[in-house]
Amino acid sequence: MGLYDEVEIEDMEWNEELEAFTYSCPCGDLFQITLKELAAGEDIARCPSCSLYVQVIYDEAAIAAKCGGRNPNTENKAPAIPVA
Ligand SMILES: [Zn+2]
Repeated sequence: MGLYDEVEIEDMEWNEELEAFTYSCPCGDLFQITLKELAAGEDIARCPSCSLYVQVIYDEAAIAAKCGGRNPNTENKAPAIPVA
């Protein structure tokens, strides 16, 4: 019960079906956190099958880039994505 581990985002696996980063939970299911949650500043990936969760270590700028630079929390440099 509670915090299971701290995991770097690079060690998580992107799951197209779930549209979320996943990480193996000891219960056999997967910890999950979506890109939207990450973009919103969420850093807890939860397992839907048990009460464990992991804290995701990630670079906010990298996530913002993945989201197309639409993270309103990004203060440093708002990347202007040219719409072709
Ligand atoms: Zn679990």
